[in-house]
Amino acid sequence: MIKCNPPVLIEPESWDYYVDKLYAVYCNIFIEEPITYNNLPIYRNNNLINGKEDTFWHLIEKTASDGNRYPDYDRCKKIAWIKYFILHCSKLCPSIKIWEKLDPKKKKVRTYLWCESFDYVVIMEFRKTHYYFITAFNVIYNHERRKFEKDYQEWYKTKPPI
Ligand SMILES: [Zn+2]
Repeated sequence: MIKCNPPVLIEPESWDYYVDKLYAVYCNIFIEEPITYNNLPIYRNNNLINGKEDTFWHLIEKTASDGNRYPDYDRCKKIAWIKYFILHCSKLCPSIKIWEKLDPKKKKVRTYLWCESFDYVVIMEFRKTHYYFITAFNVIYNHERRKFEKDYQEWYKTKPPI
């Protein structure tokens, strides 16, 4: 069985240097050698905030209870995983679960790629000509896992595997 083998973690160092290093990885994934999914390009929120794309800040920070945004080191370290899970795990990993879910309010279909071995999920929105990158994170809570499992089973009942 072929196992998933995501890239090594990018360990933290002085913050300014670290952010630039992470942004270089991000730019490689989305801009310089842009990845695709199902042969479609992947767009994201590329509004610039402090010289870096909005989606990048979303990926490396989290909102604390005081309302401020702080570094999320676990996600920082795994920023290179996004590319790996979209390009490789989604195609060959025995632990990947892929499903779609309609958001009835927004009438948008979201694609979920969940690697159970690494408990890592990538979420993208299907927009006919492209995918729109929503988020990627480690699944930490059991209630999240149960929800994903339920959504996957529901989708699987009515559709063949993607
Ligand atoms: Zn995997």
